[in-house]
Amino acid sequence: MLLPTTAPDFKSGFVALIGRPNVGKSTLLNALVGQKIAITSPVAQTTRHRLQGILTMPHAQIVLVDTPGIHKPHHLLGETLVKNAVSAIAAVDLVIWVVDSTVPAGKGDRFVADAIHKAGTPALVGLNKIDILSPDPQGSHLNLESYSSIASPYGWDLCQFSALTADGLDNLKQMCCDRLPAGPYYYPPELVTDQPERFIMGELIREQILLLTREEVPHSVAVSIDRVDEQPKLTAVLATIYVERDSQKGILIGKKGKMLKEIGTKAREQMQKLILGQVHLELFVKVQPKWRSSRSQIVDLGYSMEY
Ligand code: GDP
Ligand code: MG
Repeated sequence: MLLPTTAPDFKSGFVALIGRPNVGKSTLLNALVGQKIAITSPVAQTTRHRLQGILTMPHAQIVLVDTPGIHKPHHLLGETLVKNAVSAIAAVDLVIWVVDSTVPAGKGDRFVADAIHKAGTPALVGLNKIDILSPDPQGSHLNLESYSSIASPYGWDLCQFSALTADGLDNLKQMCCDRLPAGPYYYPPELVTDQPERFIMGELIREQILLLTREEVPHSVAVSIDRVDEQPKLTAVLATIYVERDSQKGILIGKKGKMLKEIGTKAREQMQKLILGQVHLELFVKVQPKWRSSRSQIVDLGYSMEY
């Protein structure tokens, strides 16, 4: 991989997005790189992998590391996700501690802040969702104060923005650049993610499952992309959705195959935006009992165990 040389004052480094589930880390990643590479949803714990988004500017390259939200683990997959998030903190140049500014800081936030402080990595506080933040009756922002009271003893600066409307993101980018060391390009300037297209395709299918099916299905699915066949006029994609139980398979397929058809149609539309071309998508559903609790199957399905 041949990378351009950089001027002596070029800044670069790795920046981890750390925070509780659902605060908007993946939405922020997409907004910063300007393309949908991470799936997002109102359902907590959408993000399973450590995904890198690459933001290249004339004077800097920021490699953003999206992590699963930090939360109390309930099963082996959950534990792996939390450990990966914590080890991500120690390995980067800067952490953006992303919080939801529309709710006051709680125990979960303190837990996250504490983990960042212990790792000793420089951090900023990203106060997200300011588009839906309204002042308290007294005209003050008690929520914001609750975060700054955690941050100020650690010397962390605060930055307000909306990942959804992109308001305030230029300032956030500048604050990141100010805190990064001089360094080289880590990735070619035109790349927006370290993940292959195939992986993002699988995620786009998983996203539709999260959006369209009931509570019990989402956390027990995994998607494998079995074949991508690039033909002159269209790209044919063959994918399998793995679930743990027959009942979940039934939900995913739906009455007369209606649900699977809808998942396929919507995921195909997203894939077409990704590859900028026509996609033909064929989906299968398979039952693979207890994949979430099995170490070997977690690794097989691409969830790396980094401890
Ligand atoms: P993550 O779990 O931290 O990665 O959170 P996601 O990025 O998946 O976002 C969780 C939910 O919050 C989604 O429904 C997003 O659309 C929503 N969200 C994220 N950022 C913003 C924001 O700036 N404003 C508003 N109003 N909603 C947001
Ligand atoms: Mg996420």
